[in-house]
Amino acid sequence: MQNPYQNAMAQLDKVAKMKNFGDEFISRLRQPDRDIRISIPIKMDNGTEKIFEGYRVQYNNALGPYKGGIRYHPDTEINEVKALAFWMALKCAVAGIPMGGGKGGITVDPKELSKDELERLSRGWVKKLSDILGPHKDVPAPDVNTTPEIMAWMADELAKQSGYTVKVTPAPHQISLKYSNPEDTEWLKNFGAGFTGKPIGNGGSEGRGPATGLGGFYVFYALRARVGLPEKCKVVIQGFGNVGGNAARIFSEHGHTVIAVSDSKSAIVKEDGLDLEQVEAHKKKIGALRDFPGAKNITNEELLEFSCDLLVPAAFENVITDRNAGKIKAKAIMELANGPITPEADEILFKKGIPVIPDILANSGGVTVSYFEWDQNLKGEHWSEQEVFNKLKPMMEDAAQKIFQKAQASKTYLRMGAFILALERIKEKSKN
Ligand code: NAD
Repeated sequence: MQNPYQNAMAQLDKVAKMKNFGDEFISRLRQPDRDIRISIPIKMDNGTEKIFEGYRVQYNNALGPYKGGIRYHPDTEINEVKALAFWMALKCAVAGIPMGGGKGGITVDPKELSKDELERLSRGWVKKLSDILGPHKDVPAPDVNTTPEIMAWMADELAKQSGYTVKVTPAPHQISLKYSNPEDTEWLKNFGAGFTGKPIGNGGSEGRGPATGLGGFYVFYALRARVGLPEKCKVVIQGFGNVGGNAARIFSEHGHTVIAVSDSKSAIVKEDGLDLEQVEAHKKKIGALRDFPGAKNITNEELLEFSCDLLVPAAFENVITDRNAGKIKAKAIMELANGPITPEADEILFKKGIPVIPDILANSGGVTVSYFEWDQNLKGEHWSEQEVFNKLKPMMEDAAQKIFQKAQASKTYLRMGAFILALERIKEKSKN
């Protein structure tokens, strides 16, 4: 597996060659502000103690409090977290929100833990980091394998660590917690706003679930004709989790044909289109996508190389590399995962004339609605789903237009256009 941090720095080098941002600014962006590793001892259900390794990287806060998800995965390690934190800094800048970049994680396979162990581990992560977290310091969110419920536990733990006591009798919420009360505006302002992606009953925002997939769709809509795609596209999606699953549903609801989807274990293709409701029901029933009636089983590698209009990697980083980039047959790619295409693969795709709508633009709908959640918590407001989507759409469209213009002006591809826009915005606010 390629080191994602090296990939991120290679991208930074490339943009620094293209536009003069000054050596000092670029050098500063080569290192995170803070790079923290913690060990989290957890009492397992069988009474033994196990120690897990956890991370928080606070990359850059020129634009506002650090912001970025927490990932639970057996392969998670510090270089991955650093790369993701760097991309978050750029993503918040591209999205035009007043937040900086951070990321966190724990090296763990959460499927091997009971629910109680998972809660103790999540609270353990906050216990070790509570001094550097909070609505005006660092605001984490869900990422791969972390859920709204985990964010609720974490916000509750932040309140506990700060010695907060619930002041108002809680109404029945989705998850009952000891140190949280979303009815209490003081709790929301001081602790609830410290984590986004919470369940709606625990101070979460309407619309956060589908936000990343929907934001991607708004970006696609703004750029479709410019990247030479037809009005109705054949779409292939890698990953069928929060992002991929929602994106598949949204594309299909808007008249596009989703012909292939995959998860970590299997991939399926049906050239005249998949019925996504039935695919979801099938996955729920057997725990995997494979053997969906009427579809053909293929591998994840074959899925990426399948002929289509739009390929949407929505699972993991480094899935399109110099080994398979030459075999991609899609007319365009939209990255909903973070870092799915390596810098070498970027060059190959550029030479082949396959436009790539980059992650820091395409998947920034998630962090934008996270920012809306933070803003609502701080103001003690709760917006309707429609209000959230109405605010999201113009922001995504504006970012897409600006990046397209930046790329055109510098005669480069969209990723570099996005980097140029982000670095200009971060540089403008960087202080000594
Ligand atoms: P998720 O855990 O809900 O889903 C991940 C999906 O990818 C699952 O279907 C899983 O089976 C599949 N998968 C895992 N490993 C795979 C592999 N090796 N090959 C093929 N499929 C594999 O996670 P998610 O929240 O949907 O995140 C997916 C990607 O989107 C990640 O790169 C994440 O950083 C990025 N992202 C997520 C959000 C968000 O709001 N959740 C926002 C921005 C970016």
